[in-house]
Amino acid sequence: MADKTGDLPRAKMSAAERRFRSRLTQLLSQRGVIRGTLLVRRRTCGKANCRCAHGEGHESLFLVISENGRTRQLFVPKDWESRVRLWVEDYHRARELLEEVSRIYWDKVRQRQD
Ligand SMILES: [Zn+2]
Repeated sequence: MADKTGDLPRAKMSAAERRFRSRLTQLLSQRGVIRGTLLVRRRTCGKANCRCAHGEGHESLFLVISENGRTRQLFVPKDWESRVRLWVEDYHRARELLEEVSRIYWDKVRQRQD
């Protein structure tokens, strides 16, 4: 039974809950996580004879987040792109796993189930 502090012995957890929790723990112990959406922007550099003046422009990658109602964006240098992509993916996976655990507790409260 969960006590009033909300602590729950691991043995009392369902197999599904233990699975979600251990995947979450494993995920968070391996890599960074970062919230945001990756967005490619194209810009011209201003040099009149550069290919970008006539073509599609230079591509730059930004990580965009909304924080307290404000949008912030962070330039992601080329050599950071692959790791940032992994961190963004892992943030989403961690978030999904946390949602799964949250659903279990939603049902516990709804059903007054220990
Ligand atoms: Zn250019």
